[in-house]
Amino acid sequence: MTGNELRERFLSFFAGKGHTIVPSSSLVPANDPTLLFTNAGMVQFKDVFLGLDRRPFKRATTAQKCVRAGGKHNDLDTVGRTARHHTFFEMLGNFSFGDYFKGEAIAYAWEFLTRVLELPPERLWITVYQDDDEAYRLWQEVAGVPAERIVRMGEKDNFWAMGDTGPCGPCSEIIYDRGPEHACRSNPCALGACDCDRWLEIWNLVFMQYERDAGGNLTPLPRPSIDTGMGLERVASVLQGVDSNFDTDLLQPLIKAMEGLSGRAYDRGEAGFPFRVIADHARACTFLIADGVLPGNEGRSYVLRRILRRAARFGKALGVEEPFLYRLVATVVNIMGQAYPEVAEQQDYIARVMRQEEERFHETLNDGMRVLSGILERAGREGRQTITGQEAFTLYDTYGFPLDLTEEIAGEQGFKVDRAGFEDAMAAQRERARAAREDVKAYEFALAFAGNLDDIGGTEFTGYGRLEDTGKVL
Ligand code: ATP
Ligand code: MG
Ligand code: MG
Ligand code: MG
Repeated sequence: MTGNELRERFLSFFAGKGHTIVPSSSLVPANDPTLLFTNAGMVQFKDVFLGLDRRPFKRATTAQKCVRAGGKHNDLDTVGRTARHHTFFEMLGNFSFGDYFKGEAIAYAWEFLTRVLELPPERLWITVYQDDDEAYRLWQEVAGVPAERIVRMGEKDNFWAMGDTGPCGPCSEIIYDRGPEHACRSNPCALGACDCDRWLEIWNLVFMQYERDAGGNLTPLPRPSIDTGMGLERVASVLQGVDSNFDTDLLQPLIKAMEGLSGRAYDRGEAGFPFRVIADHARACTFLIADGVLPGNEGRSYVLRRILRRAARFGKALGVEEPFLYRLVATVVNIMGQAYPEVAEQQDYIARVMRQEEERFHETLNDGMRVLSGILERAGREGRQTITGQEAFTLYDTYGFPLDLTEEIAGEQGFKVDRAGFEDAMAAQRERARAAREDVKAYEFALAFAGNLDDIGGTEFTGYGRLEDTGKVL
């Protein structure tokens, strides 16, 4: 089953269970400055769950574009190191707004996985929140999962909250066991005890059951709700019989395209890391730009710049000296343009933005790399394990190296970066810029003032016309 078919199957399965198919919302959350990017299916329904907004339906299903890079959920560093994490991915979800609850949510998920997708039930493990006896019982009664494959877990993994106060509740994760041949070296390689690729979390069911007040007290909600999220790329990997998201039809064409551009062969092991990073980042950049984000130095724009420049550097690691990432936009559109017309419609624009940013970076990349090598060499000579905040700031300010790029390159050679020192240097520069703006204001004022004193003679004043133009009267 292709990734595109899987997305369709999911949506139509839940449509068949009375859910309204709602389009993905933008990666840039509407009216939520607290959130960097949409990172889950429930984001667009936050106000509905809070009772602040109403929709003409009580059940919804979506395929939601998500980015987890920066902010509370940040998987950037994990990408390419595990087989299952991306910065950009799609989350398939079904939602109940005070309609059905735990029993039905479990029944639907189980039916979809074992009947529609025909996954072998004996491969599926369940986690429940330690105190959620109801879920522990329901998984056995409704789905017939034997108790030995249901694991109780703590608050960190299995209790969800929208914020410090508000809706919250236990959750249940469905895990696909790739089998003992995928066991890692931890002893034991057991669900809950290790975080390796053997235990593939495919679906999270959140049971929004309580309201938490400022004192931390939980009150049962009169009409509990359901929020679920399933990783499209992960389930595709299982259905397509491959060990990694990067080998699915959703990402493999990007790796293939990169093989073409670099003339090198992809290696599924460690050596293939740059390919995986590039494939991932090409998708993230394409979708972020399609949703209106532009590379820049603040907030969302800065995250995009970091992702894009990181990909550009890995291109260099594969021997590609020219801008290349923009060429992958066409491949992303081929794979996903039908499901997400916004990327197909804006293909040329996205590629142009990407190419421009790559060119900007390339102009300084070589110089910056040379400077960084010098810094690392000196640090080594001086017996330091850390490069200073000022050194990292120079790379940022003069050569456009985002901090985490410097950290990554330094880290490859065993060095750390003084993060706090970098922040200090950044703050100092902001202060200088502010002071400079004040100076300009004072200067303009002096000029204007001089204009009024024209008849005193002396300095010739040339700025008068401009002041008149703006209608400013002193
Ligand atoms: P993990 O423990 O594997 O990092 P998670 O518990 O952080 O996943 P959830 O917040 O529960 O993930 O999101 C719901 C589902 O979305 C997950 O079960 C998984 O299938 C998928 N998912 C989460 N993060 C990613 C990611 N970075 N890349 C791809 N899929 C993801
Ligand atoms: Mg995670
Ligand atoms: Mg998890
Ligand atoms: Mg989870």
